[in-house]
This record gives sequence, C-alpha cells and structure tokens, in this order.
Amino acid sequence: MENNFPKLFVPGPTHVSKEILEEFSTDQIGHRTPEISTLIDYIVDGVKEILYTNNQIFLVSHAASGLWEMGTINSVKKGVVHCVNGAFSSKWALSSNKCGFNVGVIDYEWGKGINVDDVDNYLSSGSYDVLATVHNETSTGVMSNLENISKLLKSKYPEVIWLVDAVSSMAGVKIDVDDLGIDFLLSSTQKAWGLPAGFSICSVSDRLIEKSKTVENKGYFLDVEVYEKYIKKSQTPSTPSIPHMFGLKKVIEIIKNEGIENRWMRHIQMSEYARNWAFNHGQQLFPEKGCESFTLTCIKNIKEWDINKINEQLLKRGFRMDRGYGSLRGKVFRIPHMGNIYMEDLKNYLNTFDEVLCQLKY
Ligand code: PLP
Repeated sequence: MENNFPKLFVPGPTHVSKEILEEFSTDQIGHRTPEISTLIDYIVDGVKEILYTNNQIFLVSHAASGLWEMGTINSVKKGVVHCVNGAFSSKWALSSNKCGFNVGVIDYEWGKGINVDDVDNYLSSGSYDVLATVHNETSTGVMSNLENISKLLKSKYPEVIWLVDAVSSMAGVKIDVDDLGIDFLLSSTQKAWGLPAGFSICSVSDRLIEKSKTVENKGYFLDVEVYEKYIKKSQTPSTPSIPHMFGLKKVIEIIKNEGIENRWMRHIQMSEYARNWAFNHGQQLFPEKGCESFTLTCIKNIKEWDINKINEQLLKRGFRMDRGYGSLRGKVFRIPHMGNIYMEDLKNYLNTFDEVLCQLKY
C-alpha cells in the first residue's frame, strides 16, 4: 500500500508531525526499569505544569472512552448528572446507563453550551453526588464555560465530584485544574496533544481517590487506587504503550519551547482566523454565540456548498477535510486548528479550500 496519505484536517485524529512520529521508533525499554521511571517522571511533571495542577497524573494505554468509566466507577454512589449537548457527551451518559448508575441527563439541543442554572436545578434535588461534563464537544464545536460551573460547585455543592472530558481541549486551551477544582480531567492524545490515538491522560484529585476507597465493585483495571499505587513508584499498573510515552515527552518539550501561554494564544488566534474565514464566505457558526471552541471551528453550511465535491477536490490536493459529525454531515463541516496545526498550516489549508471553491464556482 502506498504510504502517502492526505494531511489530516479532521478534528481527531489530528495531523502528527514527522519529528513526533520519529520518537515512536525509539528503542523499547522495560516497563519496570529506572529508565521508564525517569521518562514517566518527566511526563507527569510536564502534564502537571500544562494543567496547572498538583493532582495525580495517570498515563493510560487505551482510548479516552475508558476514562469516562474510570471517572464514574470510582466516584458515583448516589448518582451522576450528565450534561448532554452532542455525540460524545451522549455516549458518556450511555456508558453510565450501562454501568447501572442512577443517571440524570440534562439534554441540550446540539450547538448549545452547558447552562449553569440547569446544573444547579439538577444538583439541588440531592440525588446526585457526581457531575459529568464535556468541556469541548467535538461533534458540534461547542466549548462550555468551566468557570461558571466551578463557581456553582464551590458555592453550593462542594461535596459533588466533578468529572470533565477535555479530549479535544486539553493541551490546546488553558484549563487551570486546581483553580477550577476539577476532580477528574481526561483526554486522549490524538487531538490537541498532536499524537497518534490509543493513549490517554487524566488528572485525579486526592478527594476522588479517597472517595474511591469507599466505592464497592469498581473492578481492578480502572481502579484509581491501583493507578495511584503504581504512579508512586513512577510506573503504570500494566505494560504501557512505551512509544506513546516517547512521543508525549517530545510534545511536552515542544510545548515548553513554544511557551505554555503562547500555545493557548496560538489556538485562540487560529480560531479567530477560521471564524473570520467562515464569515467572509457568508457562512455562519454552528455553536451558539459565546460557546465557540478554540480548537475547532464548526461551520453551519448555510451556503449549501456540496461538501462531498469539496472533499474530493481537497483530497486531490493532499488534504482530508471534515464533513460534519453523524447526522450533521454536510449541514456543518469542521475545521480543526489544534496541536501540530500552526497558523501557516491553517492558512495554507484555507487557501487551498478557496481554490476549490473557486473551481466549483461558489
Ligand atoms: N470525548 C470527546 C469530546 C471526543 O471528541 C472523543 C473522540 O473524538 C472522545 C471523547 C472519545 O475519545 P477516544 O476515541 O480516545 O475514546
């Protein structure tokens, strides 16, 4: 098979640069050796800095969906409220239903952000001890406001454990975990971290770990107590994906060289560029105002461009575009601008997009 794939302009997996991919061919090291502990210590310290946290950092060798369950099975005793405003928050709620929890769902029309008054309403019933929110709904390009939720929890529900999916925002958007008081923040590596898929990262508060000690029937594989025991030895409970760890170390070096604050600013600037590009073409944004993501722009295709034709032409020019998630296909399309996509890459992609639009006489 020819190994010459189009450059990815989909919101995950995102484009991985050659210098990061090269790290994946580093010689293997043993997973119970001093070498791996040095590697893990470097990564954990780096992730703590990027997340502004002193919480535990666990490195996990599977996709982020597994961490949805790590969050819930270690913390839910009474029930969990899920804010559902897109495909991923919906799947997380499904996972909780399948776990047999008492689940409350705050259902939003796709494109809307989480409304803190709704969260207040649900939690005021006293039936739930956990709140599960998706920071950046990748399916709709909606980024919800974590500060408002944080204020609510701190002032009225300090005992509620707060789980946040940051799969498409961690490492692209500033999330001050300790200041916000997030108990469990999870992400996989194939979005703003700019690594291949199949590896995940989470930060876990001490109080979640303490609560986990009182939860029964939580299994072994996702037990945070087990993870804590191993991370104290700078190891992981089972054999990890060591190539991902070499890749992650490289990304942390890249982030430090770029400057953490500069990285946040770059993502904001790229989101402004993509939004303006959409407006200049007479299109609209899909998310409600004030909830537009910094890592991807979800464009409402009011000009009714033929997305499949555009896709064909972009593929010929070496780009794989996004055509909208699930039932939104064609009605929206998403432009990712995160991780290894820099302003020059975005401009290059959108200039090529313009060439295609011109050719199709839009
Ligand atoms: N949560 C969000 C917001 C996502 O965008 C995705 C994947 O796109 C997931 C969870 C699932 O991540 P994974 O495929 O690593 O399980």
